[in-house]
Amino acid sequence: MATEFDLIKRFFSRPVSAGLLGGGDDCALFGVTPGLQVATSTDLLLEGRHFFSDVDPRSLGHKALAVNLSDLAAMGARPLGCLLGLGLPAIDEAWIEQFAEGFYALADQHGCALIGGDTTRSLQGITLSVTVFGEVEPNLALRRNAAQVDDDIWVSGVFGAADIACRMLAGEIPLDAALLQATRSALEWPAPRIDLGQQLRAHAHAAIDVSDGLLQDLGHILAASGVGAELQEQLLPMHPALSGLPQHALPPEVLQRAVLAGGDVYELCFTAAPAQRAALEKIGSALGLTLSRIGSVRAEPGLFVYDEARNIIPDLPRGFDHFRP
Ligand code: ADP
Ligand code: MG
Repeated sequence: MATEFDLIKRFFSRPVSAGLLGGGDDCALFGVTPGLQVATSTDLLLEGRHFFSDVDPRSLGHKALAVNLSDLAAMGARPLGCLLGLGLPAIDEAWIEQFAEGFYALADQHGCALIGGDTTRSLQGITLSVTVFGEVEPNLALRRNAAQVDDDIWVSGVFGAADIACRMLAGEIPLDAALLQATRSALEWPAPRIDLGQQLRAHAHAAIDVSDGLLQDLGHILAASGVGAELQEQLLPMHPALSGLPQHALPPEVLQRAVLAGGDVYELCFTAAPAQRAALEKIGSALGLTLSRIGSVRAEPGLFVYDEARNIIPDLPRGFDHFRP
């Protein structure tokens, strides 16, 4: 029977680069470039709440780190390292091995070394907690409170797929095998926009990563900045598997909710002065990433979405809130 220490040694003790002292001691130690600040963030993922029990463990390892790296991306921070807390009800070595593979593959891709963690047996269900550390120039970190009136509002990537895949897997909308295949990777393999975040530091005012739904997360920028905004519905970039659906394949309100309020997107939403348009378009093409300008920041409070006929869309869906009754 493998012990806690066997597990750690076998699956979570890959060597880390010089300058980092990783797992194996009471604390991990790491240095920061002089003059830079540490950006840190943590996320908890619970079985049955944030992921399905039968999820591919490789994708779970990827996603547990991806959602944290996405927070660094939204601040314009460069990843340094991470900690992994694991609560497991039983030892399934094949499962842990695949989980570790998914985790390390993304960590390696972004130079974010796993430098420590904690491993315990849980009474029920899998609990994951990842903490990331990054570094960023103190005055260039992208904050939520820096949106300015007349800024353009931008998003990276395409929207709606993760929500639709999640609802199909949860049995909330009819399961369509082809549509699930086309949307599932958005849910299970989100790509944290680290490179974009780095480049945005010089061009954007405010930024956030979309984890709980576009309207809700953009709402955080607006509230923190003391401004309002208007969006144009027809400018919202919908995932091609959804925009290409035959009419009536899914009710229009399901698609609208997926795009405006669907969570688990991990794209960046940011604001920038109109003078930055050309520079941002260049950054998007250089990264091979669609950047879409979806609306503008306004002085009047409130977030309004207009349809093509310039009518305000009423009763917009809200994003995800764990404690909403
Ligand atoms: P302590 O009792 O001091 O908290 P532990 O026995 O929990 O130490 O952990 C031993 C070492 O293994 C520590 O350096 C810790 O950071 C590392 N470690 C434990 N679990 C993990 C994990 N899931 N991933 C990476 N490192 C881990
Ligand atoms: Mg411990």
